[in-house]
Amino acid sequence: MRRALACAQAAAQAGEAPVGAVLVDPATGEVLAEAANAPIARHDPTAHAEICAIRAAAGRLGNYRLTGLWLYVTLEPCAMCAGAISHARLGRVVFGADDPKGGGVRHGARVFDQPTCHWRPEVQGGLLAEDSAALLRSFFRARRG
Ligand SMILES: [Zn+2]
Repeated sequence: MRRALACAQAAAQAGEAPVGAVLVDPATGEVLAEAANAPIARHDPTAHAEICAIRAAAGRLGNYRLTGLWLYVTLEPCAMCAGAISHARLGRVVFGADDPKGGGVRHGARVFDQPTCHWRPEVQGGLLAEDSAALLRSFFRARRG
């Protein structure tokens, strides 16, 4: 999660909302991909940190399924990313801060709780949540100010 936070900081420096994600193979501890939120720079509304990390790991492994891998992400995933996480068949999602406004796991669509969701990862929230939330607060405060 510290690596994911570093990615989030890099996103903030690039003017993107500070969210970072890291994909890990829990069997070996190897980091397969890490990514920062980048929809503005990439001209791609789907370029959330989670999607970027999933794409990078899938390309690296040459497999559209990332069965059992663990995702660390600094903010509760949105509904789009939760869908991608399910399609990728990740084993576990560990996130930092809750996102009552845009989250799709514990809030909003609650994608993994729907009967139409056919792959449900284990979910753990709140890891280094205050660090993640502080990064987001200071980013948006600076933008408004
Ligand atoms: Zn997302």
